[in-house]
Amino acid sequence: MQRQTLQRVAIEAAFKDAKRPLAPVEVLEAARADVPTLNLATVYRTLKRMIQDHFIHPVELPGESARYELQAAANQHHHHFRCRKCDLVYDLEGCVDGLQSLLPEGFRMTGHDIVIYGDCTACNT
Ligand SMILES: [Zn+2]
Ligand SMILES: [Zn+2]
Repeated sequence: MQRQTLQRVAIEAAFKDAKRPLAPVEVLEAARADVPTLNLATVYRTLKRMIQDHFIHPVELPGESARYELQAAANQHHHHFRCRKCDLVYDLEGCVDGLQSLLPEGFRMTGHDIVIYGDCTACNT
């Protein structure tokens, strides 16, 4: 396989294995297991191409640089948990009811975003 293809395959595998949003540095760490010569510049370039290909989607948390998740995951309505100790971000399944009831009379909700902060299992023990 071409070097470029190997890199892309390793990066795609990193996302599939992680099953949660990854920062570029996390992508680098995971994909380096398969392609030891990989560097951050190549990761950024590959991520950009994968966004254009609709393979991954940016996850923007307030005040943070983007993480990325599989487009297939992004297509399912879900929210995120960010560990305040290790900075890892996890997917949360499902949503909450009753958000419309928070709005003042006459307001209409057209979307929402929820981020829960706390300690993950690894940091909590
Ligand atoms: Zn943690
Ligand atoms: Zn929701």
